[in-house]
Amino acid sequence: MLLKGLEKAGSFMGSTEDYHGASLVILGAPLDLTVSFRPGTRFAPSHIRQVSVALEEYSPVLERDLADYAYYDAGDIVLPPGRLQESLGRIGATVSAIVSDGKFPLLLGGEHLVTLPVVETLLRYYPDLVVIHLDAHADLRDEYLSEPLSHATVMRRVAELIGGCNVFQFGIRSGTREEFVFGRATTHFFPGEILQPLTQVCAQLKGRSIYLTLDIDVLDPAYAPGTGTPEPGGCTPREIFQALYLLADCRVVGMDLVEVCPAYDPTERTSLLAAKLVREAILCFGVGK
Ligand code: MN
Ligand code: MN
Repeated sequence: MLLKGLEKAGSFMGSTEDYHGASLVILGAPLDLTVSFRPGTRFAPSHIRQVSVALEEYSPVLERDLADYAYYDAGDIVLPPGRLQESLGRIGATVSAIVSDGKFPLLLGGEHLVTLPVVETLLRYYPDLVVIHLDAHADLRDEYLSEPLSHATVMRRVAELIGGCNVFQFGIRSGTREEFVFGRATTHFFPGEILQPLTQVCAQLKGRSIYLTLDIDVLDPAYAPGTGTPEPGGCTPREIFQALYLLADCRVVGMDLVEVCPAYDPTERTSLLAAKLVREAILCFGVGK
């Protein structure tokens, strides 16, 4: 299917120009409308692409090389400023085009609300879908300042869509009392922990279709300061890479990496970390040539 409504300025390192031959598609979703503190995530996809060239294409941990993988960078979805519903619709439609072509969508946010239209879309193709959510924040509010659609409510909406029993949340260390009560009662909720519970969950989810949503603020602000709502007390990059490697043995059908905010990232360490996560994700979830 022809992808429409995209603009392209730069590409992720090593990506092919051949959409049809690619098994994985990188897609920028620069939604930046509902953040609660510091905006600027709309600039993340282009920054992540820009710094990606600083990395090697070879992963010594995985012993795999991007040169052996065919992945396409579709550029960024053009989102109409201020029109939330239309923006979510465009994200869903673009992901639908990619998935109906049998390709793995790897989205670069944007804010965390981009996950909602992606899950809505993937659910049509994968009725057994479960969502693995790595984040500092529970994102389980029912509304944020009377708004039901927000980066602070996104996992609540996802839980309504696919059922709380199909939502697995790791690393959470921030939220309201109500969110923590709701999470403990409704989702598979692992506050503050990642690798130990994820190891068990991965074993349980063999064969299920998994969507991975990775909010960069799950990492400690020491490693990822470039984000809108930094939360002290987070994990290290090694733990997140290890989480990806665990998921490499599962049936992951799509992924997003959200909430990178380049304006608060003067050393570019957050974008660089994001780019390396994208590289490892391609090597974990892509298909070798
Ligand atoms: Mn989030
Ligand atoms: Mn967060």
